[in-house]
Amino acid sequence: MIEFKDVTKTYTTKDGDLTAVSDVNLNIDDGEIYGIVGYSGAGKSTLTRMLNGLENPTSGEIDINGDQITALSGSELRKKRQKIGMIFQHFNLLWSRTVIQNIMFPLEVAGVSRSDRKKKAQHLVDLVGLTGREHSYPSELSGGQKQRVGIARALANDPEILISDEATSALDPQTTDEVLDLLLEINKKMNLSIVLITHEMHAIRKICDHVAVMDAGKVVEQGTVFNVFRNP
Ligand code: ADP
Ligand code: ADP
Repeated sequence: MIEFKDVTKTYTTKDGDLTAVSDVNLNIDDGEIYGIVGYSGAGKSTLTRMLNGLENPTSGEIDINGDQITALSGSELRKKRQKIGMIFQHFNLLWSRTVIQNIMFPLEVAGVSRSDRKKKAQHLVDLVGLTGREHSYPSELSGGQKQRVGIARALANDPEILISDEATSALDPQTTDEVLDLLLEINKKMNLSIVLITHEMHAIRKICDHVAVMDAGKVVEQGTVFNVFRNP
């Protein structure tokens, strides 16, 4: 379970204070796909950086499975971050490494033995449908295949949550649907909670259980996708 309790983030800029996220309360249940949608500037990235411990809220609290993320020490936070899988719009792959090496990388960082890394990475390659492409380089893959590598890498350390940060925004509609189908399949198979950050309403409608709509730093609506987006 992920909880945002009265979370506010204010940046001090040369033009004065800017509140990027204002009094946000969210409850994300285990095993659900939770969408966060909003236009550019709504505060989605700021929310994401706080959720994965890259930035602290100015006030409020964020808990992931009972751990208050802001209260963790440096080494505890590094451990916890290994349990937060992230996928990105521009994939963030290591371009000089092959598919399998990219997937083994977070396992290497976590200190997993070489033979266990290989076994785990191969299992993930198969899971995301890239069997046979283990030794390709990212530059040899399509956008959808690159994101499959990103997903496999994000799953390497058995994350407690997977955060998808505009992960389909650079993909064409058909590839977007394939990647969303894969996320849904992983969510069901592993009972993995997914936070889907996007400006694409289609992605929310397709796979999310609940959604929060953000505007100017505030959550302006939240609830089931059915209730939030039903026609009046
Ligand atoms: P989104 O991801 O929805 O596009 P952001 O979280 O990036 O929204 O931005 C929300 C607001 O906070 C914007 O007005 C943005 O300019 C501002 N902002 C984001 N990061 C910073 C920062 N590091 N310093 C100052 N202002 C920021
Ligand atoms: P590097 O970019 O240093 O070669 P990674 O891409 O594996 O290595 O990133 C290291 C860690 O930082 C991973 O846990 C990854 O999910 C996270 N990370 C990378 N880029 C970002 C970002 N822009 N925002 C948040 N987390 C990020």
